[in-house]
Formats: sequence, structure tokens, C-alpha cells
Amino acid sequence: MVNIAGEIWETADRQPEHLAVRTLDSQLTFAELKAASAAAGGYFRQAGVQPYDRVLFIAPTVMEFPITYLGLHALGATVITANTMSTAAELDYLCEDAGVSRIVAYSRCADASGVVAERRDLPLDIIEPGHRYDTEPLTAAHDHDANATALILYTSGTTGRPKGAELTADNLVQTPKMFEPVLQVEPGDRFGTGLPLFHVFGQCVVMNAVLVQGVTLSILHPFTPQTMLRMITEHELTAVSGVPTMWNAILHAAGDYCADDFKHLRVASSGGASLPVEVINAFKKKFGCAILEGYGLTESNGTATFNDIRREQKVGTVGPPLPGAAVEIRDPSGQPVEPGTVGEVFITGPMIFKGYWNRPDATASDLQDGWLRTGDLGSVDADGYLSIVDRVKDLIIRGGYNVYPREVEEVLYAHPEIVEAAVVGIPHEHYGEEVAAVVVRTPGSTLDAEGLRAYAKEQLSAYKVPHVITFTDALPKGATGKILKRAIDRASLEAQE
Ligand code: ATP
Repeated sequence: MVNIAGEIWETADRQPEHLAVRTLDSQLTFAELKAASAAAGGYFRQAGVQPYDRVLFIAPTVMEFPITYLGLHALGATVITANTMSTAAELDYLCEDAGVSRIVAYSRCADASGVVAERRDLPLDIIEPGHRYDTEPLTAAHDHDANATALILYTSGTTGRPKGAELTADNLVQTPKMFEPVLQVEPGDRFGTGLPLFHVFGQCVVMNAVLVQGVTLSILHPFTPQTMLRMITEHELTAVSGVPTMWNAILHAAGDYCADDFKHLRVASSGGASLPVEVINAFKKKFGCAILEGYGLTESNGTATFNDIRREQKVGTVGPPLPGAAVEIRDPSGQPVEPGTVGEVFITGPMIFKGYWNRPDATASDLQDGWLRTGDLGSVDADGYLSIVDRVKDLIIRGGYNVYPREVEEVLYAHPEIVEAAVVGIPHEHYGEEVAAVVVRTPGSTLDAEGLRAYAKEQLSAYKVPHVITFTDALPKGATGKILKRAIDRASLEAQE
């Protein structure tokens, strides 16, 4: 059986009474999740959806997400999940590009879907909170060819319009298997996340992997550090997954919470963006729990490396390749480099996508003999642990010297009055590029640019010290809460130069 929904249903048959999904006010056992998603699949079959029809599904991290998502997968539809904040113009583009034949949207984020469905004369299903399908259920999940496209996730990449990454039925079932040994999951584990389920991290690395392994998944919407802290303690979570901005927010909101409140938590996992070492250390100190970092891209089903729980954790690295995956660092001519040398990260393994939907040129440039060119700079140490230095496109070249924004950000995050920081390059007449920082201070802080520069100078070579520093209340963030460097107002930074 190659079908992620079919695999989760098999797990449900083995442990029907075990809790599958919980929110702060509702829950479903595995048997209930199977029945509800089989009924969802039955509904879409009755509505005329055929295997490999492209269905656009838009919903936040609520109980109705796994029910509808698994129903569509069981039927064999090619599912496309999109950001709940997408505009009508963005959804219109996805519908055109992917040849979408139906839209399914959660009522609280259905306005843009309604506009597009009407414009394109597409069937639209609106799912109300608490909605359950009462149609005759599917009795079996569609058995895919391993290479069939089961999921398309759009990713912006560096330039141009979003591209649809085609993930195969096999990619979806392989990812949970890769994580199984490194997480050492136990039957009584309770996972939790506030990640959006429409993004690869929350959807494939967390939701699908956790449910296939028969573990209870607690989900949260909307994510706030306070509700996450409540969920960790009330649901006695043993594992939590998030992106760096979430860990940082939890730390700053934790107030009187202490290690005893987190006594059940044995692993916190982070990915999606680099996690400042300062945050890992502060989290460990406050809650007594390590945050293990992993690394992946939409094009690798969110999967590549992870700080394997059975091996030594190397803080600041994203760990060794997961079982079945491999990492290679190559120089600009495409030759592998020596351990410890920085170059572009290439990855391979059973989680690598099949290509970009209808984009043979982009596919040929990013996928070479089964190796994915990631666009990230990194190095691998003698033990095989990968460190991500930065994205190729974020590297700042100042007067011929390389400045890795991440290194400068690490220093800024270590300042007690800094909550968040983003370092970017801005054009400079003499140096080509100059280093600029946008910083969020702790409430009441009087830290000014001069004071911060003096602090940075103590720890960084002069050419790495941010020349322009601005303060803001919040940094722009993407769907998962990642800081969006491309949305930073560079014109106002340039004006201050
Ligand atoms: P978009 O969809 O807008 O293109 P994106 O480029 O962030 O967003 P994703 O597939 O969501 O696309 O993220 C993959 C990228 O996230 C990687 O290429 C890498 O730059 C970054 N990343 C993921 N995990 C880590 C990590 N642990 N440390 C540093 N960077 C990471």
C-alpha cells in the first residue's frame, strides 16, 4: 500500500482506542479519525473527484484539517495545501498553474477561495468548524504507484512566481520511516505543535509522521506562546515541534513556568530556519529540555538531517543525515569539498521530490541525478554533522569579505535586551554591500544603535559589525513564523546609510 492515509488507517486498525488528535477542547481516537476521514473520502468520491484530480485545500491547524486531508489522500486525489492567508490573486495563480478542479476551504479563511471559485466556476466546499462528513465511507485507500504525485506544495524560492513542488506517494510514506529510529518514539508519547499544517513541516514531518507511528498529536490554532505553554502542561506533552521564532516567543512569555511544569517533555525539535544557540541554551536552562535541530526543504518533504536522539547532540548543527538520506557539500564547480569547508548543500534520499509541476527548466537546475541543490551554504564535520551557514542568496559580500548574516544574528541574540534580529545586506557605493540590522528590543529597553554597535564590536571583526541599525516592534514573518528577509524594508535602511 503506497498511500499515507492508508498507512495511518492501518495504524488505526492496530490501536483503534488510542487518542489520535487533540485540540484544547476536542479529541478523536484513531478509530474516530479513520471513520471521519473515510467519510470525507466518500463525500469527495460522490462529488465526482477522481484519483489525481488536483484539489486545493485551505485550512488552519484545526481538527477538520487531518479529517479532510486524509479523506482526499485516501481517495487518491493530488492534494494542494495553501497558506490560509493567501489572497484571491495568489490562489487564482495556483488554480491556473496546477489545473485545480475543486477548492475545499475552512469557513474562517474562505473569502479568497470564494472569489476564485466564482471567477473560475469551480466547485467550492466550505467546511464549518466542527464539520463532520456523513457520506458513505471509503472502504479502502487508493493504492498509488510509488512515483505518483500525491501532494503539490508551492514554494516561493528566490525569484519569480511560486513553483509547485511535486511530492510523490512514496515521499510521503518514507518520511515517517526515516524519523522513526532517530526519535525513539514510545507508545505513550504525546506530540504537540502550533505549526501551520498547510506547510511541509507541520504537515509531513509532524502530522503525518506522528500519526503513522500511532502517537497522539495535539494541535493548536492560533499559535500563541501562552496557549502553547498551556497545551504543553495540560496535555503533558512529551515532544513539541516548532520553528525558531516560536521557541523564542515561548521563552519570552514563560514567566513563572519552570522545569517542573515541563517534566514530561523529553524532546523539543526545531527546523525551518536557523535556531540561535542562545535560545537553545536559555531553553535548556529554564525548562531542562534540549531543543534538537533538523533541516529540510519543501522539495525534500521537509526532511534531510536531524540531531539523532541516540547520538551526541552538537548544538549549532542540524545533525547528521537521517537514515536513508545523504548530504554532500560542493564547490561552485560542482566538486565535493573536504570536511569543514563551506560550500553549497546538496541532499539525496527517498524524500526528494519528483520535480516542479510543469517547470522542466527549474527541475533540471535544482535536481541533478537525484541530488537536490538546496541553495543553502553549509559544511559537514568529520562526524557527518551538517551546519547551515546561511542561504546562498542571503550572503553579504562587503568589500570582498564574506559576512554570514547568521553569525552576526547569533551575537545580537546573545544581547539580553534583544528579542529578535535580522541582518541583511544593503547596496553600498564603496563596499558593494554594507551590513544592516533590524532589531526588536525587550519592552522598556533604552538600547540605542550606538550602544548595540559598541557591543557587537567587542565580538565581531569590524567588517561584520552592522553599520546601519534600526529598531522595530516586529519583524515580517512567513507562514510558519520564519522571519521573511525579503519583506524587510531595505529602502528605509538604505536611507539611513
Ligand atoms: P518559501 O516557500 O517562501 O520559498 P522557504 O524558501 O523558506 O520559503 P522552505 O522549503 O519552507 O522554503 O524552507 C527551506 C529552507 O529553510 C532551507 O532551504 C533553509 O534555507 C531553511 N532551513 C530549514 N531548516 C533550517 C535549519 N534548521 N537551519 C537553517 N536554515 C534552515
